Amino acid sequence: RAKELNSSRPQIFEPGMDTQAIQRWHLETDLRLGLQQKEFQLYYQPIISLKTGRIAGFEALVRWNSKTRGFVSPGAFIPVAEETGLIVRLGEWILTEACRQIREWHERFPRNPALIMSVNLSGRQFSEPNLVKQIKTILDSAGIEGDRLKLEITESMMMNNVEEAITLLNGLKELGLRLSIDDFGTGYSSLSYLHRFPVDTLKVDKSFVERMEDVKDSDKYISIVQTIISLGHNLNLDVIAEGIETEGQMKVLEFLDCEYGQGYLFSRPLSSENAEALLAKENYLNYG
Ligand code: C2E
Ligand code: MG
Ligand code: MG
Ligand code: MG
Repeated sequence: RAKELNSSRPQIFEPGMDTQAIQRWHLETDLRLGLQQKEFQLYYQPIISLKTGRIAGFEALVRWNSKTRGFVSPGAFIPVAEETGLIVRLGEWILTEACRQIREWHERFPRNPALIMSVNLSGRQFSEPNLVKQIKTILDSAGIEGDRLKLEITESMMMNNVEEAITLLNGLKELGLRLSIDDFGTGYSSLSYLHRFPVDTLKVDKSFVERMEDVKDSDKYISIVQTIISLGHNLNLDVIAEGIETEGQMKVLEFLDCEYGQGYLFSRPLSSENAEALLAKENYLNYG
């Protein structure tokens, strides 16, 4: 009914108009401003080898500390950045900053050469025609090899247009990049395509990991996680479990032969300074 009432009105903001649209418009304006004012920061969550207990890399997670809004979670602003196209510039900054950071950590911690930086890619970035070229430029100016960078993409991004996605992923692989499927098991995906995607890693979504300790259905969820891990291994992929919060979850995942883990049990996402302090401590413990 609201639509009927409004249909002959001009599209200006006035009381009674779709407040959600107004809020969105404000958010977009703040996002634009935030980009100009450099209000974004990357946090880094360690990814731990469950075999050795050591830090295998980090996932870069964007944070927005807005002057007008305070802290805004990526779940709230990434979708708006996507819809407005602002994600393209933001995403470019994220990639550039993450690559610069991993280069710096390699120089500072040469005895942990295996460190890999994972960066989330949004759907919009994934369909940018010059993505491969853009990433090549970013790698070159950071002075790092492609195999230091891992991109996290979701099933739905690839299922949009399977053939196009495979071509793009192959282009990224040619740069030496590593690729993960993020939130595996939650999206719309097709097992019949999985073996055709040139990916290296499956990330088990945290909703499955969490429910492994469900009071009623823990058996079912442990089976699901076991199945995802076997699927990954049968396709020659590594598996990362995200959202590990308890020792119990970690033990089960170790038992199921999962290679890597990420979650509050090990560490929350850390500021660059705190991530570096953690690396320094680990370096000291392992090499003296
Ligand atoms: P994601 O890529 O699946 O990232 C994992 C999310 O789980 C992160 O939330 C992380 O802080 C959170 N997490 C990690 N360990 C635990 C745990 O043990 N328990 C619980 N409950 N949560 C845990 P965050 O940082 O709020 O990011 C949410 C989502 O926003 C990400 O999900 C990703 O889809 C998106 N996102 C974050 N940063 C970026 C970015 O730089 N670019 C793009 N395109 N998307 C991003
Ligand atoms: Mg991710
Ligand atoms: Mg994830
Ligand atoms: Mg997730």
